Amino acid sequence: MRLILLGAPGAGKGTVAKMLTELDGSVQISTGDILRGAVKAGSDLGKKAKGYMDAGDLVPDELILDIMATRLQEPDAAKGFLLDGFPRTIPQAEALTEMLNKLSIKLDAVVNIDVPRDVILDRLTTRRTCSNSACQEIYNVKTKPPKVEGVCDKCGSPVIQRDDETKEAISKRLDTYNEKTAPLAGYYEKTGQLLTVSSTSSDEVVAAIRERVGA
Ligand code: ADP
Ligand code: ZN
Repeated sequence: MRLILLGAPGAGKGTVAKMLTELDGSVQISTGDILRGAVKAGSDLGKKAKGYMDAGDLVPDELILDIMATRLQEPDAAKGFLLDGFPRTIPQAEALTEMLNKLSIKLDAVVNIDVPRDVILDRLTTRRTCSNSACQEIYNVKTKPPKVEGVCDKCGSPVIQRDDETKEAISKRLDTYNEKTAPLAGYYEKTGQLLTVSSTSSDEVVAAIRERVGA
């Protein structure tokens, strides 16, 4: 399937994307994961992106659009893709529409995962992430702690709080989301592609998506 996943940081886009990849072999394309990988590798892209990311700001559209134009044409994306974290601004959405038209690719739906702000805040402050960029397993100190404190169950690397998951950066990310990304719901409402799911359960979100796209 070919989907865009919209939703605030902490709404569960990544979790839902991972569950969907297991259904039909579509790939999850997370711009956040790609950027964190670049920061860790110390590449040019990473050097340009890090300051924006740590502050909770969006990286400039040009950087993201270059990455995505290439990524969408890689062979694994031919079976389907779940866009997690892209597009994030109206100009990115417009550029994506153009890219997909050029490639003659049609989206199945644009899913807006709608979760109340207090739930989001609680999730983000308690979220922890595996520091191994090839793993990036997500934990939660309250609901899903690693078996050994601070150590990833899957790969044994340290489990850390992301640099952009301090209280200040979280509040900045939510403001950025409301200002720059929330308007995308209106953009995709107009194209008739929007599916809004108000649920804090990833299982329910996945069920609603399956019903909509018939998977
Ligand atoms: P979140 O948990 O905020 O959804 P992500 O892992 O998707 O986090 O992204 C982390 C950071 O990477 C963002 O705060 C932003 O700085 C940058 N980023 C990710 N995707 C984009 C994008 N499409 N456009 C601009 N910046 C992006
Ligand atoms: Zn790990």
